[in-house]
Amino acid sequence: MKQDLKRLLYTVRPQRLPRNLVLTTGYVFHTEEVYNDDIFRRLFDFCKGYTAITGKQAICTVMSGISPKVRAGMRLFNCSEQKLADLYHQLSSVATIGYHGHFYFNADLHQRHEAEIRSNNFSIVQLTEQFSNDLEWFKKHELNHNDLYAGGWWFMNQHLLSLLIKAGFKYDFSFSKHRFFLNQFSLDFMIEHEIKTGECFEIEVETIGKIREVQNLIGSSSSAFFEDYVRNLKRIIHPAHPKVVGMFNSHDYDLHPANALNFFTTLKQLPQVSFFDAADLLDGRLNIDFRPTVLPVHRLQNDMLASVR
Ligand SMILES: [Zn+2]
Repeated sequence: MKQDLKRLLYTVRPQRLPRNLVLTTGYVFHTEEVYNDDIFRRLFDFCKGYTAITGKQAICTVMSGISPKVRAGMRLFNCSEQKLADLYHQLSSVATIGYHGHFYFNADLHQRHEAEIRSNNFSIVQLTEQFSNDLEWFKKHELNHNDLYAGGWWFMNQHLLSLLIKAGFKYDFSFSKHRFFLNQFSLDFMIEHEIKTGECFEIEVETIGKIREVQNLIGSSSSAFFEDYVRNLKRIIHPAHPKVVGMFNSHDYDLHPANALNFFTTLKQLPQVSFFDAADLLDGRLNIDFRPTVLPVHRLQNDMLASVR
């Protein structure tokens, strides 16, 4: 019934992408539950379908096998660490693997939201420790994260940026203007630097190094209506910046493969839309400007002091 109403609504009030919009886009997954064979199969088949339509690979940022949330799921589905790593290796034949970080104050209470390090709360000690443990796990299982990162809960701050840069990460997909994916640090940073939706930028954390940011646009997981995606996109596009570069995103567990593939089939037919993937980014094949920005070192020091007080 709801679907019928929506169809009627979109017939009466059609949703179209702005005429002057030029959209260059990729796909990033927050991959969390591939220990469940059904979810793995669905994701694997989707990634193949996505490449068949767009000619590009999706990025699957994955969680380590020592992350408490993943461990709980592995126990439930009787999946060993080795099997999880094998599944990620299999996935890398149809997608580009990256790192998806989730961090905790108390790993034993991982099912409770307050135990997760999210937007305004964090502990630098735990963040640093869990970050390096995750990377160790990838290394132990010879999994290449390809220097690509996407944050769990869209969590981001100067310390995580510094950790990523120090570990050699080149691209981050954690910044977004969409209200579903807001993070206070990321939003403040983009406001301060007047960064519009779909504008790529490079952050230089003073004395540490640089990382490139490609923003997340909207989710692409479930809706059967192309108009829903258009409506969501129109909410965040800035009229003065119609040249939009950014990612669509989804979790592995809430993906609706048929609807998402339909969406990309429709997008692909539009002359103003083109697709890119991790290889295009990493090999520098895309003609994208990354606006330089600087995160001053004094702010990092002040925040570090605040975080240990
Ligand atoms: Zn996540």
